[in-house]
Amino acid sequence: MSEKIKNVVVLGATGSIGDSTLDIISRHPDRFNVLALSGHSNISKLVKLCHQFSPSYVISTNDNCYGELNKALTSSPTQVLSGNDELLKLCQLDEVDMVVAGIVGNAGMQPVLAAVEAGKDVLLANKEALVMAGDIVMKAAKQNNANIIPLDSEHNAIFQCLPESYQVGNTPQDIDKIILTASGGPFWNRNKNTFSEITPAMACAHPNWDMGRKISVDSATLMNKGLEVIEAHWLFNLNVDEIDVHVHPQSIVHSLVCYKDGSILAQLGEPDMRIPIAYGLGMRSRLTSGAKLIDLLVNNELQFLSPDYDKFPCLALAKNAIATGGTSMAILNSANEASVAAFLDNQIPFTAIAEINQQIMQQSKNEAVESVDHLIELDKEIRLQTHKIINNYGVKSA
Ligand code: NAD
Ligand code: MG
Repeated sequence: MSEKIKNVVVLGATGSIGDSTLDIISRHPDRFNVLALSGHSNISKLVKLCHQFSPSYVISTNDNCYGELNKALTSSPTQVLSGNDELLKLCQLDEVDMVVAGIVGNAGMQPVLAAVEAGKDVLLANKEALVMAGDIVMKAAKQNNANIIPLDSEHNAIFQCLPESYQVGNTPQDIDKIILTASGGPFWNRNKNTFSEITPAMACAHPNWDMGRKISVDSATLMNKGLEVIEAHWLFNLNVDEIDVHVHPQSIVHSLVCYKDGSILAQLGEPDMRIPIAYGLGMRSRLTSGAKLIDLLVNNELQFLSPDYDKFPCLALAKNAIATGGTSMAILNSANEASVAAFLDNQIPFTAIAEINQQIMQQSKNEAVESVDHLIELDKEIRLQTHKIINNYGVKSA
C-alpha cells in the first residue's frame, strides 16, 4: 500500500540543515512534498529553492526582505509571506505533516513551540529551542501528542539505539547512562596559550563537519557539546550525571546508549547530516540518503578521550546550568549567542566567549521559568547585559 505523501515545512531552508533536508526530499518525491520554506536574509537562495521545489508558501522572517522576495516571485504560484507571526501560523496549518526546525539560535524557539502545540511531527535540529524552553516544549509535546524527532547527530544516534517503541520525552528503560560523543573541534590539540590568536575563519573550519557559522564556533569552544547535554537532558528526561561526554576525534561513532546489562549500543556513520535527517524524515524507516557507507577497514582507529574542562570551560557552564535549573540554561544560551556573534564580528577574541558567558552566569539571578514571554524578555535583558561587557571588553584589555 502506498503511503500518503507528507507535506513538509522546512524552517531555515537556506542554511546547512536546510541543504541536507532538501537533498533527501529531492531523492524521495514519492514520499515528500515541500509545502513551505523559510529563510531570513539570503533571498537569492530562497528564490532559487522556490523555483526548484515549487512550495505553496515561502516566508522571509526578516521583514526588510519581503519586498525583494515578493518581487522576485511575482509570476510564481508560491504565496509569499513575511515575519514571525506568519511563520507561527504557517507551522500550524492543517495541511502540515512535518516541520523541520533548521533555524539557528533562539529565533527557532517560538516556531518549534507552535509546531509542537499543533501536534505536528517536529524534526528538531534547532537545539537552542530546547536549551531555552525545554520544559515548556516537552510538556507541550506530551499534551498535544506531537512527535519530536532529534536531528542533531548525537541525539539522533541515541534515538536510533533505543527501542522503536521509545518516544522522546520519556526516560529510556533499562539504561545506565548515555554517552554523547564530541569531535573536540578544531582546537582540541592546540596549546591554550595561543587561543587568543584564533580568528573566526579558523574557528569555522571544523575538521569533520560542514555546518553554519554559529554552531561551528560553538563546536570550537565545546559550548555545542554543553548545549547538547542540555538538549539530551530534556529529550531523554535524564539527569546530568546520566549523560557522559567522550571526545571522539574521528566523528564516526555518533553517540552510545549504555544498558544495565553491560551492553553498549552505538550508531556509526560518516559525519554527514543526511543520515540523521533521513532517519527523521523516514520516521524511523530507512531511506536512502546519499551518504557513503563508512569503510571500517579504512577508518579503523576509534579513540575515546575525556573532555578537557580547563581548556574548554563552556562545557562545565552548561552542566552547571542543568544542575541549577530554572532560567539558568536560557541565560547561558542568550549570553552565548551574543558573545559568539561578537566574536564572529571581530569585536572580541575567541577566549572572551567563555569568559563573558561565565561572567553573565555569575551575575545573573536564577528564577523559575514562567512562560515563553518571560523567556523572550529575559533574552532581551541578557543580550543587553552581554553587550555591555562586550563593549567594555576592548577598553579593559587594551
Ligand atoms: P545555518 O547558519 O547554516 O542556517 C541557519 C538558518 O536559520 C538559515 O536558513 C537562516 O536564514 C535562518 N535564520 C538565521 N537567523 C534567523 C532568524 N533570526 N529568524 C529566522 N531564521 C533565521 O545554521 P545550521 O548549521 O543549518 O544550523 C541550524 C540549526 O541546526 C542550529 O540550531 C544548529 O545548532 C543545528 N544543528 C546543525 C547541524 C549542522 O550540521 N549544520 C548539526 C546539528 C544541529
Ligand atoms: Mg551535534
